[in-house]
Amino acid sequence: MSTWTSQMDSLIAPAVARSEVTDEVVLGAGRLRDTGALVARMTRMPRVLLCADEAGFQAAGQAVVTSLEAAGFEVEAHVLPVNPLPKASVEEAEPFRVALAADADLFPVSVGSGVINDLTKYAAFRTDRRYVTVATAASMDGYTSAGAPLAENGFKVTIPTRAPIAMLADLDIIATAPAEMNGWGYGDLAGKVPAGGDWILADALGVEPIDTVAWPMVQDHLKGWLAGPDGVRSGERDSLARLFVGLAAVGFAMEAHASSRPASGADHQIAHMWEMEGLTHQDQKVSHGAAVSVGCVAALALFDWLLDQDLSRLNVADILGATPSLQARKEALLNAIDAPKIAQKAGVELEAKFATADVHAARLMVLKDCWPALRNRLQSHLYRHQDMADMLRQAGAPAFARQIGVTPEHLLSTMRAATFIRRRYTIFDLLHDIGQTEAAFAAVMPKLISGKSAMAS
Ligand SMILES: [Zn+2]
Repeated sequence: MSTWTSQMDSLIAPAVARSEVTDEVVLGAGRLRDTGALVARMTRMPRVLLCADEAGFQAAGQAVVTSLEAAGFEVEAHVLPVNPLPKASVEEAEPFRVALAADADLFPVSVGSGVINDLTKYAAFRTDRRYVTVATAASMDGYTSAGAPLAENGFKVTIPTRAPIAMLADLDIIATAPAEMNGWGYGDLAGKVPAGGDWILADALGVEPIDTVAWPMVQDHLKGWLAGPDGVRSGERDSLARLFVGLAAVGFAMEAHASSRPASGADHQIAHMWEMEGLTHQDQKVSHGAAVSVGCVAALALFDWLLDQDLSRLNVADILGATPSLQARKEALLNAIDAPKIAQKAGVELEAKFATADVHAARLMVLKDCWPALRNRLQSHLYRHQDMADMLRQAGAPAFARQIGVTPEHLLSTMRAATFIRRRYTIFDLLHDIGQTEAAFAAVMPKLISGKSAMAS
């Protein structure tokens, strides 16, 4: 396994060189003191707007202020309260946007994790400013990505914005973040395993070829990044650094591919349903990474089921005869998704990906022919869902629905709905194409409900 420092040279540096947006990534112990010099390399503006919440400011704010002032910046700190926690919404970004709009020489620097970074990213984009992000936890893969997943009038969308011009992560700070936050980042990264499986399916069936730049950036290193789950939980520097390199690489892969395909498949579709529902557990909003963790294990269980099938014996005529019409699919969508706004958006996705009988038949013929090879390819890529659940448990991330307050009925209805919400081809679409969605769901539900090993954590 290559070390994270060598990956900074061999993987992150070329990704930064290729990036049209990000000019520098700094990762290491004790690096917070380099913030001022980093920001000075990125802007000639004399003043900095430090965007944080109370938690992020407490973790790193004072050291960042000291470093910025030593580099000659005048610092204005805008610190959001954490009780209640800042929401990932356009409205919440308003104070940052207003401050930036009022002063053309104010350069935004985000100090925090997911939500603060997204709020700053959005406010900077709206005021045509670049920004630097100082990460305080390895909690998600969005630091280096272009989109800001924020609610606008209550509906969650990924708003096209711009990735930061530079990112700095100090391992000493990351190591002191609440362990569960780094567990969420581990879960978000773990989701790239089934997401890669989804892309393998789409590639094999001629739906969406694998991108030879973005794929290796993530998938060639993924098993190494995921190899130290207990170290993530205990705050061990090398494990956290590997995790952070992985999360950063994912962001660059998304930029290189100009979509989230390298990072997101059925696992994220499940997570997005819960995020849009505003799922809470023990009075706390369930984080993106925690939702992806559970989605990841569910998606892997579906792959486990798939690998046990012999698709070379599919009866194409029977499947085509039993396939519902577009109209019937629209009705199924309305049964599966209650919220009108989500149903409407999913309807657009459904129409975009609905396969005509000819396309469907051709796809099934390809699937029959390539199944033995495809099965081998999937098998060497994937983890069994139980193995992944064990790794997530070691990392301190949830693996089963019950751990985030989701009942078996809720999980089943989530999987039925998640099938519809993106046009991206995933295992959900393959199950539909072979007419086995409900059979596969019924087969995996008992495994996802019991989840005994993870419940012990
Ligand atoms: Zn994610």
